[in-house]
Amino acid sequence: MDIKQQITGLRDELRQHNYNYYVLDNPTISDYEFDEKLKLLQQLEKAHPEFYDPNSPTLRVGGEITKNFETVSHRFRMYSLDNSYSKDDLEDWEKRIKKLVDGPVEYTCELKYDGASISLTYEQGKLIKAVTRGDGVQGDDVTINVKTIKSVPLQLMGDYPDSFDIRGEIILPLKGFEAMNEERVEAGEDPYRNPRNTASGSLKLQDSAEVAKRPLECLLYSLKAERLPFATQFEGLQKARDWGFKVPSEAKLAKTTDEVLDYINYWDQHRHDLPYEIDGVVIKVNNLQQQEELGYTAKSPRWAMAYKFKAEQAITVLNKITYQVGRTGAITPVANLEPVELAGTIVKRASLHNADQIAKLDIREGDTVYVEKGGEIIPKIVGVEFSKRPPQSMPTVYITHCPECHTPLVRKEGEAQHYCPNTDGCPPQIIGRIQHFISRKAMDIEGLGGETVALLVNNGLIQNYADLYELTEAQVIPLERMAEKSAENLIKGIEASKLIPFERVLFALGVRFVGETVAKKLAKHYKSIDAIAEATLEDLVALDEIGEKIAESVVAFFNTLEHRSLVQRLKNHGVQLEISAAALANQTDKLQGKIFVVSGVFAKVTREELKKLIEDNGGKVSGSISGKTNYVVAGENMGPSKKVKAEGLGVTIISEDDFLEMIA
Ligand code: AMP
Ligand code: ZN
Repeated sequence: MDIKQQITGLRDELRQHNYNYYVLDNPTISDYEFDEKLKLLQQLEKAHPEFYDPNSPTLRVGGEITKNFETVSHRFRMYSLDNSYSKDDLEDWEKRIKKLVDGPVEYTCELKYDGASISLTYEQGKLIKAVTRGDGVQGDDVTINVKTIKSVPLQLMGDYPDSFDIRGEIILPLKGFEAMNEERVEAGEDPYRNPRNTASGSLKLQDSAEVAKRPLECLLYSLKAERLPFATQFEGLQKARDWGFKVPSEAKLAKTTDEVLDYINYWDQHRHDLPYEIDGVVIKVNNLQQQEELGYTAKSPRWAMAYKFKAEQAITVLNKITYQVGRTGAITPVANLEPVELAGTIVKRASLHNADQIAKLDIREGDTVYVEKGGEIIPKIVGVEFSKRPPQSMPTVYITHCPECHTPLVRKEGEAQHYCPNTDGCPPQIIGRIQHFISRKAMDIEGLGGETVALLVNNGLIQNYADLYELTEAQVIPLERMAEKSAENLIKGIEASKLIPFERVLFALGVRFVGETVAKKLAKHYKSIDAIAEATLEDLVALDEIGEKIAESVVAFFNTLEHRSLVQRLKNHGVQLEISAAALANQTDKLQGKIFVVSGVFAKVTREELKKLIEDNGGKVSGSISGKTNYVVAGENMGPSKKVKAEGLGVTIISEDDFLEMIA
């Protein structure tokens, strides 16, 4: 078989598996087999750059950076929807419709996915563009980011029209959202508030590799073209499905108003069985001919109507307000409730956010309160039923001292949260920091779990993460439930962590706001902990994607004597506090401050390698040409529009060989 056939064969096969997995939820091979095939394709593509395809399944991992998303016009305007909140509203709408069109009217009922709307343009079965709704007339071109979403087909199947737009919603399923939040909390960052905002924020991330990591999905619901190969909305959904789009199967054809109402009632009750959030249902006149007759108002189609669900509420008694201390010392007030059923789960606790929130709603222990599950995952208290307030009730007095270590709390200007400032003496902070240090994405110490950390701290064996490296088996064996074998494993695990690379050690230190990605950036740029410790605020903010908040936190961390001595002790024990020589060998700063755009196909390296070479040598890769671009590295088949743009802006165009010379 010739190489080209093998490559296209693999691409087709992987596309099919992607479709089975992400669209049909029905994988037919193991993840391992999939990865093996993907690796093989990557190798072949690398060896044969002449067969480059911008829509290859290997390009789902992202990597291109966009500074500014270009504003582009929609081919077909993106309207919003009229809302209804009751049966009466809906019936009024139906009456209006029946006056305007002849003959019987049928409806397609669909779920109203709660995410960020998107319009995808396909030409000849290939994804060309993905644009946000914006103001409905113009939106932002976020194609680079949307390409990383696995349920968005890059290449269609079957008998699709040559050219069309398809609309849908980019959503973040609940499970994925929760997993993302767990990671953020581990990095000392505030969790995201709700899936919808996180999904729409994701589309505007500059680094598409970051978008690729997020478990986003794209659910489609409407097709637009000069001519469509079907006569009804319901058939359209089926066709879109056949072409490879993810179109949820919950849509239903309703012949009567009663059937519409049944659909609404059913989903109002079962919405929480879905893996993602919906905020209502959408009813659409099914026949496209009738849709055309009905037309649009200034804002929305006359042929569609959204029915919005009410946020689910429960009423229950607030027994007690308790306070939690996090790893960073942040205090979170928690409402301990009389258990109550809400949105299909039993709720016992709700977040009270902070002191201001409690004061604003005048929430007191013993109150009967309204609990709501809106877009947020953690239920919240939205109000008090004052008629049920017990006569002896007293206003809540917020705590002034840490519930764990009794240190007076502080609250910084402009911050909502109170903090326990006793960083080094407050048990949950001490334990939390060490737990973070040993966690999987940080030092990943085998044989040591979160509970053992608490045990070690509570028995006075360790006070901080540097102490871990001085533990002995003899000290550990007497601990509760600690067999000789596990003591041995624990010490071995700690020893092995000395090989963990610098970027992860940096993350493990638990500098506030320095999550995995920021740690990688800092490690790569500064190369050693000493260089980071010496960096000034100005140095730090000058780096890409390092904001003032992060910079201040880094400076403050290294300005503290105790932290410097902890770092010194880790160093003495042989923990990696600089980039290893091997990793360093391939890096220079020859391209420092230069911005590159890569276009076309290359003979000696793949696009991915070329980008890595640029970054390893200190340059930056951007997705689009602008006045700030220094060089366009042009391969074969460089897009003609890019060429015109580069020439227009006076950007230097260089060849692959020119580039390799620059870094030689
Ligand atoms: P609104 O933002 O409240 O005006 O609601 C209109 C938005 O609902 C549209 O722009 C879509 O993004 C979104 N939507 C979610 N699901 C659907 C659906 N099945 N059909 C049409 N629009 C939908
Ligand atoms: Zn404390």
